[in-house]
Amino acid sequence: MKFNILTLFPEMFDSLNYSILGRAIDKNIININTINIRDFSEDKHKKVDDTPYGGGAGMVIRADVVYNAYCSIKAPGKVIYMSPRGKKLSNSIIKDVVKEKNITILCGHYEGIDERVIEEIVDEEISIGDYVLTGGELPAMVFIDAISRYIDGVINKQSVEEESFSNGLLEYPQYTRPEIFLNKKVPEVLLSGHHRNIEDWRRKESLKITFLNRPDLIQNLVLSDDDIKYLEDLRNTNKI
Ligand code: SAM
Repeated sequence: MKFNILTLFPEMFDSLNYSILGRAIDKNIININTINIRDFSEDKHKKVDDTPYGGGAGMVIRADVVYNAYCSIKAPGKVIYMSPRGKKLSNSIIKDVVKEKNITILCGHYEGIDERVIEEIVDEEISIGDYVLTGGELPAMVFIDAISRYIDGVINKQSVEEESFSNGLLEYPQYTRPEIFLNKKVPEVLLSGHHRNIEDWRRKESLKITFLNRPDLIQNLVLSDDDIKYLEDLRNTNKI
């Protein structure tokens, strides 16, 4: 997949060149093409922003400069603007976007971007959460990382399928060597080699963590009789 990124800070995306994403870039499975919006300013000082019409704090990135930068992209594909007012990023959005061949991500900065260019070029606005960051670069990197995990060849398929949210639940606790750490033993069942019991234990732990941290996720699940009984017991012990 090719990610075109419209940004005022292309250097920030160098940090994608490490670990799993770095290897995916080396193997050409994903391609990161940054476009510096500033290069498209016609101002002699390369100014890209101006004060907001109607007054108010901060500066707004100009529509014409963003538009010229966008027009330089040969195959933009779906255009996403990272924005706190967008739809909240979720696994279902990611699974949808991963079908695209090219996507273009627009990163705002300062007070944001002139609305007219957003109307003209953007297909969807996406937020990474209910808080405001200084720029769209970190959200864009979060988005790229989350999408890349679903692209064939980036990581092992089984890892993706067993991770939090894949079956609607949060992940169960994981353990590795040493078997005893600071007097804490790895749960006995994980040493038993009994696959069915290990699966049952993991399912219950997932239900417990989801129930305690994200009860909203449980509403959308198809639960077995065993799950329902276990959740009832949990509710009773937690007096909810
Ligand atoms: N004035 C805007 C508002 O109140 O909605 C916030 C602008 S923010 C300081 C600057 C840029 O950071 C935005 O244009 C957007 O690209 C990015 N940004 C900030 N928070 C974000 C979030 N939660 N999700 C996605 N992008 C975000």
